[in-house]
Parts: sequence; C-alpha cells; structure tokens
Amino acid sequence: MKKYLFIDRDGTLVYEPEDYQVDALDKVKFLPHVIPALLRLQEAGYSLVMVSNQDGLGTESFPLETFTPAHELILNTLESQGIDFEQVLICPHKPEDHCECRKPKLGLVQAYLNDPSWERSSSYFIGDRATDLAMAQAMGITGLKVGDGSNQSLTWDGIVATILQGHNASAPRVAHVVRNTRETKIDLTVDLDHSGESHIDTGIGFFDHMLDQIATHGNFNLTVKVDGDLKVDGHHTIEDTGIALGTALKQALGDKRGIGRFGFVVPMDEVMAQVFAVSADHLVTINEQAQVAAAPATESEDHNITVALDISGRPHCEFELNAEFTREDINGFETQMVSHFFESLAVAMGLTLHMKVTSGNAHHQVEALFKAFGRALRPALKVVGTELPSSKGTL
Ligand SMILES: [Mg+2]
Ligand SMILES: [Zn+2]
Repeated sequence: MKKYLFIDRDGTLVYEPEDYQVDALDKVKFLPHVIPALLRLQEAGYSLVMVSNQDGLGTESFPLETFTPAHELILNTLESQGIDFEQVLICPHKPEDHCECRKPKLGLVQAYLNDPSWERSSSYFIGDRATDLAMAQAMGITGLKVGDGSNQSLTWDGIVATILQGHNASAPRVAHVVRNTRETKIDLTVDLDHSGESHIDTGIGFFDHMLDQIATHGNFNLTVKVDGDLKVDGHHTIEDTGIALGTALKQALGDKRGIGRFGFVVPMDEVMAQVFAVSADHLVTINEQAQVAAAPATESEDHNITVALDISGRPHCEFELNAEFTREDINGFETQMVSHFFESLAVAMGLTLHMKVTSGNAHHQVEALFKAFGRALRPALKVVGTELPSSKGTL
C-alpha cells in the first residue's frame, strides 16, 4: 500500500523569514539535513506531497513575481538531488478569506482523503506549526513537529529515526527484565538505540567480559546485575542471564518492524570462510571469500568462527564444536556453559542460531564466539526500513 509524507514548506523545508514571506532568493535557506532525510524516506517507500499556506499569494501584499523565483529555487534544488514531490498544494488565501483550503482545513488534501488506497497508519504530516499538527489529526495520520529538537520538535535526523523505527516510533527500543528465582536475582536492561555504555556485573569476571563483547559488537547498551548462587557454581548465573538477555532483546524489538532480522558473520583472521545465510525455513551454505573485517583481529590463532542467526520467532540453536574446548574452565567460567548460554538465549529470544568454531586456545574460542555473535546480531537488530521483514506478515 502507498504511504505518504505530507510536508509543509516554510519553517519545515526552508527556514521561515521574520516577515513570514519567502519572497526573495536570498531568503531561501534549507533546514539542516533536510535533503538526505527526504532521500532516505523516499528510499523507504514514501511518496511526498507539499502542503503550504502562502497568505495572500497573488495579491499586492505577496505578488507572484516575488514568490515564484524563490519557490522554484526550492523545488529545483530538491529535484536536482533526486527528491520528487508528487504534488505541490498551495492555499493562496488569507485567514479572512475563510476559504476551505487554508490549513488546517482539509480542502487541499481532499482528493487524498477520498482515496482509500493509501495506508493512513504509516503516513505522516510533517510541519513546524500547531496548524500542521492539527491538520495531521484531522486527516487521521500522525503529525511530526519539525524544529531544532527542543520543545518536543524533531530535527530532520530525528524525523527519519522516528519514521523508520516503525509505527511505534516514539517508543524507544529499551527493555528492562527483572528475574528472581531461588538461584539467581537478575536485573537487566537493553537499549538497542544507544551503545558504548554498558555496565555488567554477574560476579563472574570472564563472563562479564564475554557479555560486554556481545553488547559492544552488537552495538547496543547492556546493563546487568546478577546476584547468583556462585557458591554452588556458575551454571545458574550463566544460564539465567542468557534467558534474561534473550527475553529483553525480544521485548525491546517489539513488533520487529523495520529490523534487519538476519545476521551472519565470519572470522577474525581467515580469508576463507563459510557463510550461512539463514532464511526462514532452510539453511543455505555458501562458500566465498570472506569480506567481513570484524573487530581488529587480536587473535593470532587460526580460529574459524561462523555465526548465523535469524530473529525468526522459531527458537533453534545449532552449536557445532569441531574440537573440544582445550580447557574446561576459564577463571570460574566453565566452557561447557557456552552452548548452554546461547541455547537459553535463543529460546528466550525466538532466535534461529547456528554457531560453529574450530579448535584453538579455549579463551580465544569462547571470546571469538561471543564477539561473532554480537557482530551477527548487529545488522539483525538494526532498523533498516519500516516494513515487517517477513512474507508471512508476522515474526
Ligand atoms: Mg510552516
Ligand atoms: Zn485557501
């Protein structure tokens, strides 16, 4: 279904002058980032319609000769950059004319309102004034206020982020999970739209380091505090943290609209790698030259790590270890818990997950798996559009 962005002109695409009239070429000044923003929104499938009040246009107070060159400069500049307005709708009247087309009245967009073929729920009215928001409301679509980011207004970057994060756009992709059992007490938060500030304390130093790899390479913030029965061993702490993390990631993704969904990653060092492309129901194996430069390779061993994942809603974890971990324990972290952790996480998150690692130093094997998992997660979590990435209409 078609979706529209109805966009005001003055104060929205170009700055509004103090006398409210863009009637000279030197009064044409675009808002920051408006052009890349419109290009991205156009790429995401939106059609654009300009809707503008130009008080008294064509009268002595605002003759066409002064309006037209500036208006054309605006349109030509946008067009030269690939921005295509389907229609430019202008009300030339003054308030006292009591016309039917002056925003927020609906005359200008009546033809659109009569057309049932476009999707109201994913269309927007974008403008800088209360009348634009009133217009949105009257049209039954979402209104977004453009501005410098203060007073509940959005910059054009903010508009793009809001629209492309899907319909519940204003909802931040954050989830907080509290999980208390007799064995563990967990307080965990993920914030998928911010990164670089994780706080991790599970009581197992090496495990903290591993969780930090997931957050860092997955490009999200993870705050977790675990109070577990470490006097027994790390088993419950690691397993339950996997469940809590999977649950939080699933919650934060919401209806998953717009996300990349799939992720795959190949190794730290090697040139030749297997890439698994996981689709909803089958697994395809492709052999190709690895192009992916993951984090700067610090491992010197010959590890070959493959992680492929799909946020499918159908939990499945395939963990393949070509050789045993060379150690059973890394500073209180039992290596047999690695697969257990990822299985718990995959089940809680609804993740189809394939992981494979070759032999080598145990610390490196484990660390590479966590890093690779984060790397595979990164494109899958990222918002890349507005559609639900599934032909079934649900994920
Ligand atoms: Mg305006
Ligand atoms: Zn009018």
